[in-house]
Amino acid sequence: MNERLLAYYDDKLATLKSKHNYRSFANINHRKRYISIDGGERLLNLASNDYMGMARDEALHDEFMQTVEHDKLPFASSSSRLLTGNFEIFDEFEWQLQQLFGRACLLFNSGYHANVGILPALCDGRTVIIADKLVHASMIDGMRLAAQNGTKTVRYQHQNLPQLAKLLDKYQQDDGIDRIIVATESIFSMDGDVTDLAALVRLKRCHDKVMLYVDEAHAVGVRGERGLGCAEEFAVIDEIDFIVGAFGKAVASMGGYVICHKIMREFLINTMRPLIFSTALPPVCVAWTQFVFSKLIHMNHERQKLMTLSQQVAATIRRAGLPCPSASQIVPVILGDNQRTLDAAAMLRQAGFYAMAVRPPTVPQNQSRLRLCLSADLGQQELDDVLQVVSGVINAAP
Ligand SMILES: *Cc1c(COP(=O)(O)O)cnc(C)c1O
Repeated sequence: MNERLLAYYDDKLATLKSKHNYRSFANINHRKRYISIDGGERLLNLASNDYMGMARDEALHDEFMQTVEHDKLPFASSSSRLLTGNFEIFDEFEWQLQQLFGRACLLFNSGYHANVGILPALCDGRTVIIADKLVHASMIDGMRLAAQNGTKTVRYQHQNLPQLAKLLDKYQQDDGIDRIIVATESIFSMDGDVTDLAALVRLKRCHDKVMLYVDEAHAVGVRGERGLGCAEEFAVIDEIDFIVGAFGKAVASMGGYVICHKIMREFLINTMRPLIFSTALPPVCVAWTQFVFSKLIHMNHERQKLMTLSQQVAATIRRAGLPCPSASQIVPVILGDNQRTLDAAAMLRQAGFYAMAVRPPTVPQNQSRLRLCLSADLGQQELDDVLQVVSGVINAAP
């Protein structure tokens, strides 16, 4: 490659490094719940999205490999579902999810595909998307693409439902707007807080232009009696127009889905570009997702356990004097100062735990934090150790 062209990008990398925003892959060795980084000591992984421990359950893998019918489940789909990439397993799993949720289901290659594809497909110049300030990058990218066909996009302060209500009143009365999409998440990835979906549904009832779009990426498998997410827990599955989720976290696989009206499903099949123009998931991957999902439905006991231990960690943080917005398995220890957060992450490592230190711009200024991701397969001793070290880092002199 041309030296001068290369130098331009190399300079950009140097700027990232100087701003401490440079990213690179670590060499990680996985051993069940433990990891070791770059050949370092063994650490309990508190940064994984494997909330139900399904991805590291070797017995589960063996069971799947024994039941899977290899001849019917190729390792590649070899084209888009609209060409010849549709296999029976896709229809079968969608049908099962439809039975569970009570509405049509459409599968995607990932949660990212779902969010960058559905939002632009639904929108035009007479649509406004109103989104929570802290929604995931994939929804932001979906909004950017939607803006290209004239869609208006507006953000409201994180979880500020009174502000959202005012915006809804405004656009409900706007003759230039026919459709309002309210886009949010049920469990937010940095604060671990849970959106009041019942309140959102009440707002929708007062505004007939509104469609609710809720991303349950961190909630599917984790919340609700059958693990269908917070929409199940709040008993509002029928009222959320688009329930989006991802299989890469608690469901221990890969892929995304939307639950919606069957007409909307049909519409997305005809208009959604990441669905039309990308090769479908490998059938064997969909079969694994289906297999894990069928187990998760019956794991309410484990979900309760995860909830209880998450509450214990949050309570410990609050007792030590820090506010903690979490109501889920994602529990932030918000220390504020960057250096203090890095020091705390180092203390955790010393004690045998790995947690992400999250700093601006990922979170607002003075909100640097350790982000603890808990899982249902955490042992009592491990939990006690976590509680002790968390108290320790909070009490350590700033
Ligand atoms: C992880 C995540 C996604 C992306 O899902 P993938 O399947 O990993 O692409 C989308 N939305 C939210 C809220 C997420 O946390």
